[in-house]
Amino acid sequence: PLTTADLIEDHRICVCVRTRPLNKKELTVKDLDVITIPSKDVVMVHEPKQKVDLTRYLENQTFRFDYAFDDTSTNEMVYRFTARPLVETIFERGMATCFAYGQTGSGKTHTMGGDFSGKNQDCSKGIYALAARDVFLMLKKPNYKKLDLQVFDLLNRKAKLRVLEDGKQQVQVVGLQEREVKCTEDVLKLIEMGNSCRTSGQTSANAHSSRSHAVFQIILRRRGKMHGKFSLIDLAGNERGADTSSADRQTRLEGAEINKSLLALKECIRALGRNKPHTPFRASKLTQVLRDSFIGENSRTCMIATISPGMASCENTLNTLRYANRVK
Ligand code: ADP
Ligand code: MG
Repeated sequence: PLTTADLIEDHRICVCVRTRPLNKKELTVKDLDVITIPSKDVVMVHEPKQKVDLTRYLENQTFRFDYAFDDTSTNEMVYRFTARPLVETIFERGMATCFAYGQTGSGKTHTMGGDFSGKNQDCSKGIYALAARDVFLMLKKPNYKKLDLQVFDLLNRKAKLRVLEDGKQQVQVVGLQEREVKCTEDVLKLIEMGNSCRTSGQTSANAHSSRSHAVFQIILRRRGKMHGKFSLIDLAGNERGADTSSADRQTRLEGAEINKSLLALKECIRALGRNKPHTPFRASKLTQVLRDSFIGENSRTCMIATISPGMASCENTLNTLRYANRVK
């Protein structure tokens, strides 16, 4: 297992992968695990260990990342190596971003802790809550007493959000709410509210969340001026970006928008990692909203790519791994 000595301290970009155990549905259809994490930073996609009549030959493929978390890893562990190092960044006048990227059902919401249905897990153990807990702990230190904490919720209205750029090149998101918070519970209540707006009127939470990006931001202010910002993002299911030839017009349009935003996101993170002068954030609404996080001097990002371990998902899994591999 990973130890504190394994912590990568000074990377602007950290990319890691997390797999999960096969779930009930996968076990019922006798899907087989094709993922192995042989060491703390390697992911292998291979033929199932248990030999079956293979209708499809799966070529072994190996990928290397900053960290690879196997199916026994906990949220607390994933958090410690991904978002935890970014908490300091926002206290040092920096911008921090943490993304969960992957196929629907791979564990993005489980990792971020945005599932408030109570069926699956306790949301207080996801990255949203763990990050909020540590931000409040830091605020207790004497140096940071003068900082105020606010939370942005991009989900508070059902109306579509509009992204505008004002004369000062600041991006404004119309229809946004910002609230002052005093403790972790306040933060969780707000996320739950946003979540219920996101899913109301929908038959299933996953059906809707697979089609939208959930953006949650923690903002530190000092005498009204922004000091640092932490954006935590549960991205739309990446398989939806392939819906561009669906028979249904709405599905097609959403697929195209998701595809566009995920491509733009990859390019923006790459530009950040290479200190490029030009960041193509205008290419999508998602990257426009996150603009200041990509261009700041002191900006850091981490991406948690979540994968489903089953053979039936291997095409999506390989797409996820290739995307995550290209980000760095
Ligand atoms: P996504 O948000 O990517 O669509 P979810 O987070 O909703 O996926 O996960 C799908 C299902 O798998 C949920 O029932 C969730 O509780 C379960 N799950 C996801 N990751 C894990 C994990 N690491 N360990 C155990 N169960 C998990
Ligand atoms: Mg989800």
